[in-house]
Amino acid sequence: MLKIGFVGWRGMVGSVLMDRMIREDDFKGYEPIFYTTSNIGGEGPDIGIDIPPLSDAYDIGLLSTMDIIVTCQGGDYTKKVYPEIRGKGWNGYWIDSASALRMSDESIIVLDPVNRDVIDSGFKLGIKTYVGGNCTVSLMLMALSGLFASGHIQWISSMTYQAASGAGAKHMKELIAQMKVLGDASGALLQDPSSTAIAIDELITRELRDKVFPVENFLVPLAGSLIPWIDSPMESGQTREEWKGSSETNKILNTARPIPVDGLCVRVGAMRCHSQGLTIKLDANIPLDEVVDMIDRGNQWVKVVQNTKESTINELTPAAVNGTLEVPVGRVHKMLMGPDFVTAFTVGDQLLWGAAEPIRRILNIIIELCEG
Ligand code: NAP
Repeated sequence: MLKIGFVGWRGMVGSVLMDRMIREDDFKGYEPIFYTTSNIGGEGPDIGIDIPPLSDAYDIGLLSTMDIIVTCQGGDYTKKVYPEIRGKGWNGYWIDSASALRMSDESIIVLDPVNRDVIDSGFKLGIKTYVGGNCTVSLMLMALSGLFASGHIQWISSMTYQAASGAGAKHMKELIAQMKVLGDASGALLQDPSSTAIAIDELITRELRDKVFPVENFLVPLAGSLIPWIDSPMESGQTREEWKGSSETNKILNTARPIPVDGLCVRVGAMRCHSQGLTIKLDANIPLDEVVDMIDRGNQWVKVVQNTKESTINELTPAAVNGTLEVPVGRVHKMLMGPDFVTAFTVGDQLLWGAAEPIRRILNIIIELCEG
């Protein structure tokens, strides 16, 4: 029976992964062992079967007895433990949600509804390291997998509207704390039917600029504002988040000729859904209904939303998509730039398709391939 070790199961991505695995009845046919960096001997998650107490996530000897290790613990953990365990000759499968190993030659970035062929051929070649992709990239590929498969995409510009969750749990809480300060401050004016929007705006602006406004994590207000910078600077003038658009897309698809993907990544006050406005340059004037049909047939989670106000405001928002595996794509139409330019807007839950779900699915695929 395969022994599978889980590290980082109680963090934000890890707990979404546990929830999905329990819902899908995944914990069967192998021996799961849960690890911790902070609570050795403590109790693991309730997965409906008896499990041993938590083991030390830094115990390389113990980890080396695993056939597969799944980690959602983060990049620092990966950078410390992965070279050590591989260095000691461990040849098991390493499945990781952190970005640390994504661009390594020995890894495959996994998003099986989009790159199952790359995964299968990598497995046959003996690849043992499988890493979840950047959330924004994975959600864009889920939305456009049919169009990518058609081979008609020349380049894409993606302007993003990214949720607080992408920055971590503390940031999500801080967003709501910021909203609360603004709500509390404006409470009396909101109750007063004679108050003006301009008076409320002046008060809100004062609050946003007040030194005591809670910005410990974001460094600046996100509620009532936005932040057009995500991650660290690159020499190119992009941020690292923007750089990942092209590098990860092309690695995931294993493209023979790179497809440029670029744009600005912006943090907005959504909780856990990333949205993206896409400009897609096609290599030909393909009729719009054919483009829509290709997008629609991409995978079973993508859903084309009619380009009407009613459908858009009800189906194509973070509020509608939060907590679901659906990847709606709407506002699809040709652009004034020319008949081979198409625009689209897409929304997706960044903790599901953007993080936990590709990890859950690659674990099942590797188990199946190991046993098959
Ligand atoms: P996280 O919530 O900070 O959890 C990481 C670890 O922190 C946990 O496994 C836990 O380890 C420890 N921890 C300490 N205090 C905790 C508390 N109060 N509650 C829960 N855990 C606590 O990290 P994450 O956001 O899930 O991210 C994990 C990795 O996935 C990162 O590399 C991240 O870059 C990547 N990723 C994140 C996202 C995202 O949207 N957040 C998307 C894709 C990939 P112990 O149990 O050992 O103490």
